[in-house]
Amino acid sequence: MNKSFDINSFEERLNIKNQFDGNLKHGAAKFHSQTNRSGKGKPADGGLIREHAKVVFDTGVDRYQRIKGFWEEVNNCPVCKSCERDPFLSRLGLEVWRCRNCDHRYLNPRINYKKVCEIYSDDKTASDMYLQPLQKEIDRDKYRYGLSLIDQIGTPSRKLIMDLGCGAGVFLEEASSLGWTSCIGVDANERYSLSYKNVPGIQYIQTTFESLDMNKLGSNYDCISMWNVLEHIYDLNTIVSVIKKLLKINGLFFIMVPNVESLASRLIREKSATFNWKHVSHFCKSSLEKLMDQHQFECVHLETAITEIDNIKSYLSGEYPYHGYGDPEGLFDFITPEYIHKNLLGSRLIGVFKNVK
Ligand SMILES: [Zn+2]
Repeated sequence: MNKSFDINSFEERLNIKNQFDGNLKHGAAKFHSQTNRSGKGKPADGGLIREHAKVVFDTGVDRYQRIKGFWEEVNNCPVCKSCERDPFLSRLGLEVWRCRNCDHRYLNPRINYKKVCEIYSDDKTASDMYLQPLQKEIDRDKYRYGLSLIDQIGTPSRKLIMDLGCGAGVFLEEASSLGWTSCIGVDANERYSLSYKNVPGIQYIQTTFESLDMNKLGSNYDCISMWNVLEHIYDLNTIVSVIKKLLKINGLFFIMVPNVESLASRLIREKSATFNWKHVSHFCKSSLEKLMDQHQFECVHLETAITEIDNIKSYLSGEYPYHGYGDPEGLFDFITPEYIHKNLLGSRLIGVFKNVK
């Protein structure tokens, strides 16, 4: 079994998680510059990036105005369907709301589906980040961690695994090298298909997630993963119900999503890069569990990963969060990865859900 830590030990999990925490391992300045996150026009710079500028116009006066014709109203919470809500925050022409019923945060209005597909199919900002060697190295450790969690929780067999939103395919390479027989990757972005070589056991399918076709994808999956993808999905309940049909009984649904109740998001709020054009949903522990519960998925593991500790300390120092100022005087040494993850304050939620019936 692929087991470099014990899932039941908080300390052992913490040690491994710290290995794929870019901020912690390399410092924000190096990590952000080497992975194309910082610099003019990049996500950590605080202004409009290339893709966002296709749907929002910077007027220079009232600043950001949504460009007419590209936006649609969202009348109900994407998780629980309630229409009761309060404004949560605004950033760069985006409005984020908080559901009064389930605490889910979501974008309203959001970019209409036709326009967003067009932008995704040519999302250079994302592929520029995720194809960088330092990012791939971090991702590899992250994916190994996830695969070990999956193994330790246990799947019906170790045959068929699917990664929805597979990007450059690093997760599938790891799964394949660890003995998964058949690894299927699905992504909407054309730019990634080039990075797939003819690796036996790995198959790449280009499609949007809203049009997943069971005839094309098959069924009887032991595990389906979505790494930082669910927050992008327009119709959450439909995709979760499709995934349920694709999975075997007792198959696992592995999810990583940004945690809107992370320490970083709680503090940095409207300066936080997580509130961007493509994140239509912002999950907290309760809204993620609510969504899964609605489809009879049982939560078998939940924790947080990625501290963003350097960003947090820069911000507490009164500086811009993403430039790597940090905490030169050590005033915030009491904020540790241990404290963050013990209190589920990490910037990503990891949830593993079992298809119980
Ligand atoms: Zn709700």
